[in-house]
Amino acid sequence: MLIVQKFGGTSVGDLDRIQNVANRVSATRKAGNDVVVVVSAMSGETNKLVGYAEHFSKNASRAEMDMLLSSGERVTASLLSIALNEMGFPAIAMTGRKAGIVTDSVHTKARIEGINPEVMNNAIKEGKIIVVAGFQGVNEKGDVTTLGRGGSDLSAVAIAGAIEADLCEIYTDVSGIFTTDPRIEPKAKKLDYISYDEMLELSSLGAKVLQNRSVELAKKLNVNLVTRTSFSDEEGTLITKEENIMEKPLVSGIALDKNQARISLMGVYDRPGIASEIFTKLSDNDVNVDMIIQNKSHDGTTNIDFTVPVGDLNDAKSVVDTFVSSGDIKADSYNENICKVSVVGVGMKSHTGVAAKAFSAMASENININMISTSEIKVSMVIDIKYAELAVRSLHNAYELDK
Ligand code: ADP
Ligand code: ASP
Ligand code: MG
Repeated sequence: MLIVQKFGGTSVGDLDRIQNVANRVSATRKAGNDVVVVVSAMSGETNKLVGYAEHFSKNASRAEMDMLLSSGERVTASLLSIALNEMGFPAIAMTGRKAGIVTDSVHTKARIEGINPEVMNNAIKEGKIIVVAGFQGVNEKGDVTTLGRGGSDLSAVAIAGAIEADLCEIYTDVSGIFTTDPRIEPKAKKLDYISYDEMLELSSLGAKVLQNRSVELAKKLNVNLVTRTSFSDEEGTLITKEENIMEKPLVSGIALDKNQARISLMGVYDRPGIASEIFTKLSDNDVNVDMIIQNKSHDGTTNIDFTVPVGDLNDAKSVVDTFVSSGDIKADSYNENICKVSVVGVGMKSHTGVAAKAFSAMASENININMISTSEIKVSMVIDIKYAELAVRSLHNAYELDK
């Protein structure tokens, strides 16, 4: 088999753990498989680098940030390759560039545009284990780019697609996908299977166990994706097509996103085209807008509220400022003390009362709901951040996910 194995930050968190990864990879090779490994930076390393940059500037150019941040993954890729060679397993470390990963130019959250797998395919033919530095690529000008936080998952899936791997294993510090973050609710249960669509919702709604874009791509390329732990041989969770899953629970999981901010625009001049102008400009500035609520118009003006990731808040503020200056918006306010809790399940498509149960769970804990949004397979609520964990546990209990 041709297998892609991705090891996250904690799995390569120190030198002993890198040796543990080398042992695991070499065992897979010894069993007769071809292996391409993708590694993250050592845990905490990317945050440390961000901190170093902030020591000098809170406004560093995103291109410079990419030069800096991409270095963390190179360290682990080379160390792992050195360890494998020392054990007698020929290996070669590659940067994103050498692995042929080409992205757009949206620095610090670039999208992969294509992969030229020639160099990787040749190395595989020569019998080498390839160790790719995750989270990075180059744009068409040759500048280094990074793929957004958690982006090594995306590197792994994209590579698996490009080299037509039989399997893509994501090794992390938990044994699979759980009904909710097991660090918040110890009663959370590991799932044997989950559909691409449910996993995509969970990831997009805050479950950082898999980066959302990686799930999106896995679905598109039909990559067999397994999440499991690097610390034992326990079986993980298979992320697959909905039709491959026999049992369809009403609710599969609860997600929490504490990285959200709410923006309130008051006295927005209510004329056709205003929402389009505001949200087009936000999107042109790469601000990721999520829930949007517009109130009924009053005296020719309206209020619009929406949420963005905290990391996009400054860019969003700059955009809003231009509308405040032009008089299209009378006042704006920002609240970072919010979070989003979500209930996800394909079973919702054919059942009623799922949302009502979520609202009742919040009511029973006296938690006020600020914003609500629903789709076919999810219900999301914005609440005060101080209730985040309580809300997750209460929802987990309400849908009996521990049973
Ligand atoms: P890595 O460094 O290996 O990429 P991450 O820290 O990015 O690992 O993701 C793993 C973490 O995701 C777990 O430690 C867990 O706290 C968190 N997590 C959130 N939601 C879930 C979930 N539904 N199932 C499993 N883990 C989850
Ligand atoms: N090192 C990067 C991060 O911490 C990418 C990754 O680990 O996937 O976000
Ligand atoms: Mg991760």
